[in-house]
Amino acid sequence: MPLRLVVRRKTSKLAAIVTAAALAMAPLSAFAQEGNGQKILRDTESEQLLRDYTRPILRAAGLEKQNIQVVIINDHAFNAFVADGHRIFVNYGALMQSETPNQIIGVLAHETGHLAGGHLAKMHAQLARAQTQMIIAMLLGAGAMVAGSRSGNSDNGLANAGAAAVSAPQEIIRRSLLSYQRQQEENADRAAVKFLNATGQSAKGMYETFKRFTNDSLFAAHGADPYVQSHPMPVERVAALEQLARTSPYWDKKDDPALQMRHDMMRAKISAFMERQDTVYRRYPLSDTSMPARYAHAISTYLHGDLHSALAQIDGLIQAQPANPYFHELRGQALLEGGKPAEAIAPLRKAVQLSNHAPLIEMLLGQALVGTDNKAYTEEAIAILRAAVARETEAPLGFTQLAMAYARKGDLAEADLASAQAAYLRGDNKTARDLASRAKTRFAIGTPGWVRADDIVTARPPAGQKDN
Ligand SMILES: [Zn+2]
Repeated sequence: MPLRLVVRRKTSKLAAIVTAAALAMAPLSAFAQEGNGQKILRDTESEQLLRDYTRPILRAAGLEKQNIQVVIINDHAFNAFVADGHRIFVNYGALMQSETPNQIIGVLAHETGHLAGGHLAKMHAQLARAQTQMIIAMLLGAGAMVAGSRSGNSDNGLANAGAAAVSAPQEIIRRSLLSYQRQQEENADRAAVKFLNATGQSAKGMYETFKRFTNDSLFAAHGADPYVQSHPMPVERVAALEQLARTSPYWDKKDDPALQMRHDMMRAKISAFMERQDTVYRRYPLSDTSMPARYAHAISTYLHGDLHSALAQIDGLIQAQPANPYFHELRGQALLEGGKPAEAIAPLRKAVQLSNHAPLIEMLLGQALVGTDNKAYTEEAIAILRAAVARETEAPLGFTQLAMAYARKGDLAEADLASAQAAYLRGDNKTARDLASRAKTRFAIGTPGWVRADDIVTARPPAGQKDN
């Protein structure tokens, strides 16, 4: 009796399509399971630049009050997507492959178009409808097949008609889902052009980027590009985008040179931190004495061992731009990771001050203060770290350092609580619960610390994370 087999095969065919569409929308769980630490890149300089890129776009889209964040993912492939309605995810590969601010701003504007259009929720509703239609189609098909086999002709026409009845509606559903997705893409393109026009920016960069991904391009030949999977790029769509974008008075507008320089500095930093050393020096040969190349060289030198030479290069950068907080941050980071926390304190203080108290840099300063083993710094470290974790609630580093500072002070209740919070943010829920339970026994019942510990003990794991 082939019925079950037929149904299962047809189900998995549609399930694969449904999964592909759902994946394009919600890959969040895929990396959240591994803990945010490894999959998300945190860097004040890059995040600040991406905020500056998105702020005007979000305002034009009427989303400025939604506190939408751009999150950088540790992946070298080109990709950008929305997954939960309040974050835009962008792979560092997309930043590296965008040669101008305008190119990546266009991609961010397109993702903002998805957010503004509520496409995520609409796609989920559409998928639910498709699943219902699929079940109905299967039931109808199964009925036809049962009728076929009852007539005693299970190997011939009627049974095949049953199979066709299963597959034909599913093909229609598949096509309607794809056309729905295509329609969302076109809507996001049009919205993006509108946002770019409203902010006096060209859509040329978005067009240039998408054109690279069209079906007949080299990229498509490789087939598995994640951006093409989540954003089907038929030639007609890109042609329509070009036509629309060219009508803008800003079509030929160039990026501001200062913004282009920040973009180039960000890419140099990402390259130096994320790419192989030989790749870095191929992109930025030693003969290149531009600021981005010098930045890449200095970072690469510090990462690959020669602290003394790295510090000399970083000092050269600081001399050229004394008010650039990220050069001081780099000096502090190199010293800290080179085992010289006491010497890291001064440059990190400078970086905190110049960056207007960026919390991630405050966490580095806290780490340097704690790392000195000098009890005279303990109270200051606690004050700085507390201020940092209050504004930057998703970085485990702040809580880890806070735990060490409290332990040094002998405050074991607060130390356990901070360790529990760090474990929770790393996605290690079992350790988080164990530490929070112990913290509860150290706090007086009902005190603020006890309540926070209790919150962790009773917390459900963040969406998409396994309760391990
Ligand atoms: Zn899209």
